[in-house]
Amino acid sequence: MALIVQKFGGTSVGSVERIERVAAKVKKFRDNGDDIVVVVSAMSGETNRLIDLAKQISEQPVARELDVMVSTGEQVTIALLAMALMKIGVPAVSYTGAQIRILTDSAHTKARILQIDSQQIQKELKAGRVVVVAGFQGVDEAGNITTLGRGGSDTTGVALAAALKADECQIYTDVDGVYTTDPRVVTKAQRLDKITFEEMLEMASLGSKVLQIRAVEFAGKYSVPLRVLHSFQEGPGTLITLDEEESMEQPIISGIAFNRDEAKLTIRGVPDTPGVAFKILGPVSAANVEVDMIVQNVAHDKTTDFTFTVHRNDYHNALQVLEGIAREMGAREVIGDIDVAKVSIVGVGMRSHAGVASRMFEALAKENINIQMISTSEIKVSVVIEEKYLELAVRALHTAFELDAPAGKGE
Ligand code: ASP
Ligand code: MG
Repeated sequence: MALIVQKFGGTSVGSVERIERVAAKVKKFRDNGDDIVVVVSAMSGETNRLIDLAKQISEQPVARELDVMVSTGEQVTIALLAMALMKIGVPAVSYTGAQIRILTDSAHTKARILQIDSQQIQKELKAGRVVVVAGFQGVDEAGNITTLGRGGSDTTGVALAAALKADECQIYTDVDGVYTTDPRVVTKAQRLDKITFEEMLEMASLGSKVLQIRAVEFAGKYSVPLRVLHSFQEGPGTLITLDEEESMEQPIISGIAFNRDEAKLTIRGVPDTPGVAFKILGPVSAANVEVDMIVQNVAHDKTTDFTFTVHRNDYHNALQVLEGIAREMGAREVIGDIDVAKVSIVGVGMRSHAGVASRMFEALAKENINIQMISTSEIKVSVVIEEKYLELAVRALHTAFELDAPAGKGE
């Protein structure tokens, strides 16, 4: 007998019919003898609908009131699911975040969980009930309703699993697991049986939006085994774990991540003196622009070029700041380029294998793709390339690192 926390996202509870299917699924686990805590999101589209309502009153609704309102989406689905469970003979009870005291700080619309009192849930489980908890919401010390940020139900699920020392936290969604890359780009992408937290964080932050990043961080920190599964298809899903298997068959690269939302900025001919990087990036960060990759060239004639990437939405803002800096520093010119994209290979296997980066560069060279920037970490190599070659690059790398599904599978 295991204790399992199951989280169902908005599309999985998007209609009464679907909620009844979720109930049937939960019943199956219960009939197996497992203790189940279910966390649900609001019906798909509901949170957006509520936010739109608030925006009809004010462009910037008071955050406390916004939380009071958007938290109602989840209050509806917990009650419906509890009813659906009881209807098929499964004892169940629903709780809002405040009722079971998911204590958060007071940062409305982006609150952080501080503590969860698991007593009430334990009592209900002992009494033989399935406990259905509202995702995305909590309560602060003063009793105000808070929410955890968009997609926050994943975090609720993981936090509950940690507090209850659950055997597994299962995230049910509309895909059947985490893939080696986006199957829309590479038809031979494969579902991974397993991936480490570290790899998942890299994949998630680079654009595979299967899980909320914060939830993955949380799960890693508290060693909560996390599994991503399809709500309505059978299958093992993908397990996200701590352990790195050192087996011979373990591929060196687990996945290819990519991001189209990059923009590149270069300031040319800046004096090569101490403090230059700070003089350039200080004002950029003061303008609230987050910088991703950075490259500074070796100086020639006592001047150098300095290049960095930002999110495409920040491009114009960053360009303006940079033009001001260039004038002040007497730099030669500022060049910008939004038609760039980032491609990364991710894998813990890199730690124990040499030559991974050169294999990546070789694969890109074969396709005649020019690399504009490179950055590396222990488990990742990223390159910036011209955006129009992005799909070609991802496909070439997927093949080069032997991630393609065997013929007959995948396609
Ligand atoms: N309902 C919330 C949202 O749409 C939380 C969630 O779905 O995880 O962001
Ligand atoms: Mg979600």
